Amino acid sequence: MSNIISGNLGYPRIGRNREWKKAIEAYWTGQIAEPELHERLTAIRLDNLKTQQNKGLEVIPVGDFTYYDHVLDTAVMFGLVPERFEYDGGNVPLDTYYAIARGNKQAAASEMTKWFNTNYHYIVPELGGREPQLTVNYPLEAYREAKQVLQIEGRPVLLGLYTFLKLSKGYAEGEFGVWIDKLLPLYIEVLRELAAEGAAWVQIDEPALVTELTAGDIEQVGLIYKTIAQEVPGISVLLQTYFAPVSGYQQVTALPVQGIGLDFVHGLEGNLAALREFGYPAGKVLGAGVIDGRNIWRSDLKVVRQLLDEIVQLAPQAEQIIVQPSSSLLHVPVSLQGESNLEPLLKDALAFAEEKLDEVVGLQAAFGGNDIPGLFADNERALEALAAAPVRNRHNVRSAVEQTLQQPAVRESEFEERRVKQEQKWKLPILPTTTIGSFPQTKEVRSARQKWRKGEWDTERYDQFIQAEIAKWIRLQEDIGLDVLVHGEFERTDMVEFFGEKLPGFAFTRGGWVQSYGTRCVKPPIIYGDVEFDQPMTVKETKYAQSLTQKPVKGMLTGPITILNWSFVRSDIPRKNVAYQIALALREEVEALERSGIEMIQVDEPALREGLPLKREEWQEYLDWAVNAFRIATSAVRDTTQIHTHMCYCEFQDIIDSIQALDADVISIETSRSNGELISSFEQQTYPLGIGLGVYDIHSPRVPSEEEMLSLINRALEVLDPQLFWINPDCGLKTRGQEETVAALSHMVSAAKTYREKV
Ligand code: GLN
Ligand code: ZN
Repeated sequence: MSNIISGNLGYPRIGRNREWKKAIEAYWTGQIAEPELHERLTAIRLDNLKTQQNKGLEVIPVGDFTYYDHVLDTAVMFGLVPERFEYDGGNVPLDTYYAIARGNKQAAASEMTKWFNTNYHYIVPELGGREPQLTVNYPLEAYREAKQVLQIEGRPVLLGLYTFLKLSKGYAEGEFGVWIDKLLPLYIEVLRELAAEGAAWVQIDEPALVTELTAGDIEQVGLIYKTIAQEVPGISVLLQTYFAPVSGYQQVTALPVQGIGLDFVHGLEGNLAALREFGYPAGKVLGAGVIDGRNIWRSDLKVVRQLLDEIVQLAPQAEQIIVQPSSSLLHVPVSLQGESNLEPLLKDALAFAEEKLDEVVGLQAAFGGNDIPGLFADNERALEALAAAPVRNRHNVRSAVEQTLQQPAVRESEFEERRVKQEQKWKLPILPTTTIGSFPQTKEVRSARQKWRKGEWDTERYDQFIQAEIAKWIRLQEDIGLDVLVHGEFERTDMVEFFGEKLPGFAFTRGGWVQSYGTRCVKPPIIYGDVEFDQPMTVKETKYAQSLTQKPVKGMLTGPITILNWSFVRSDIPRKNVAYQIALALREEVEALERSGIEMIQVDEPALREGLPLKREEWQEYLDWAVNAFRIATSAVRDTTQIHTHMCYCEFQDIIDSIQALDADVISIETSRSNGELISSFEQQTYPLGIGLGVYDIHSPRVPSEEEMLSLINRALEVLDPQLFWINPDCGLKTRGQEETVAALSHMVSAAKTYREKV
């Protein structure tokens, strides 16, 4: 039998208590200088290594740490500083590095986008400006440090050239090969230096190999790895894939590399099927990603052991098998240690990064015949206890979902009919003006919430404060002259957390942070039980707002798919069933709002797109159940009740059929950052329901002029029906100040009025 060892692919950077974030932000605000930043981040990096060392992990990755983002690190390592930033070659100064990520007074930041199908976001490298050069060998530095300070023989991690180029922009399609030619020699230099230093192995991450690959793509990948094998024979390469089954299994496993890493969690079906069909090449190491690197649940070790057994049998000639997480642990919180508030039943069934490494090490030991006493029994006990818990077995919820799915979730009448009834009921002017929901969350608002959470303020006092904010903003909105008002969402910190806290089935950690982008971390709620409606969540505030005005106040809910996609979700039932449970709970809220006289209701789905699978062929299935969940939540209302939705992205065209299928009476979408592309897209296919294209960017404090917005409106109305068009900003205004908000909205309302006078 092959020999089996334990390994890891990457560790969270943020530290147990987000020390990483705090240090970097302190540097940005000038509280600490560069040497202190280095000192603090080095301490975190070494601490991460020590943790892995103490667990007895055999393969410890080095070079996975970063000062912001590992994709940006790769760009900067090759001197790829966009031309709008000053730079004269050599090591990229720290402030330039941060300027690329965040912008500075002279130049805008590089774009940021989603890292595959995760909630991590990377800085998009910009090619085509400066010529690449090797400025510094980060993996080498990391390798040396681990060895010198901790006597760890680490395995350096690099982002692979193929994936790096796929994630970059600034070159034409035909130039991919040109860029391989430019960068491959630099990769080779990095690897040569590592080999010379004594590194036996490198981990080269190529997650792009799980996306669809053409024959041409495979050829380019082949070229890269053949060249590396020829030029740097002294180093062994573990070619690591994750997030889905590898495409072109036979070709990829035949590459002249010494090992391949496969995801046997998120790519289980495809990778296992390929392994069964084609076997595994003799003499290569197989990285078996069997512990989920993306969820927070303990693995079912019995099942994983069986899986590993099968993998071992299917790869009898593998040189070695590495038991490892399915991907870097960057996507999970660091440690369960501080979670003293969680219900023991739940806590017992969780595994964050540290606990996941315990599983890796435990499994490896079991294969080596040194079972850690009690490991499997304890695992089984914890998982069974949670599975049997009443919160996971609410039969009323299960049967309510089943029953709901018996009938199609449709509104009473089709849109055309609803539209007539709604026009009669609401008598809005053409180009009605509204906002997306939130108004500025000032220091006062946040500090009031803190005081209430700490118990310094009682609920009555806090409620009064919130009501005063609502009243203030109802008045402001009336003065501005908006047609459809909102209450302002002052009672919410976060659009998912707010609902999660009120819905049974959710739990919240104290320190379960994960990096979203740069130093921004999020603490996703955990959906661990069956979700059901308990009591109205938004009625009080919305009704109060409505009592202060004759204008309609739009109720404001977060949609089922956004709640799902921004949470850690239980894995014992299908994701779509969790979505349906949330949808049913929201449906009761929608009905409660309607009953209390709130007859315009917005159900936000900004994260609909985020759930799209990596492979296109799987998109439709996801979209179908996602749309169904939205419709379950929103279709039970009267024809005259107007359902709104909102999405904050402008790539819209490729899923437009599904967006239309939501059957929302009105949709608002972010527009201004698409540089007119979104509007042009309606030349091909127009949109038959109500639609509001955001007329100004809310990400900047700049107050746009009436003329600017008017020209956007005019442009949009060349392709969209003015009778169905709404005027609104791009997104919620919670990050803005009061003064700029009032000014910008006043310009917006004037722009609408100017247009109306014209027609
Ligand atoms: N209603 C939310 C708000 O205005 C929508 C936020 C979002 O789209 N991300 O804040
Ligand atoms: Zn938005």
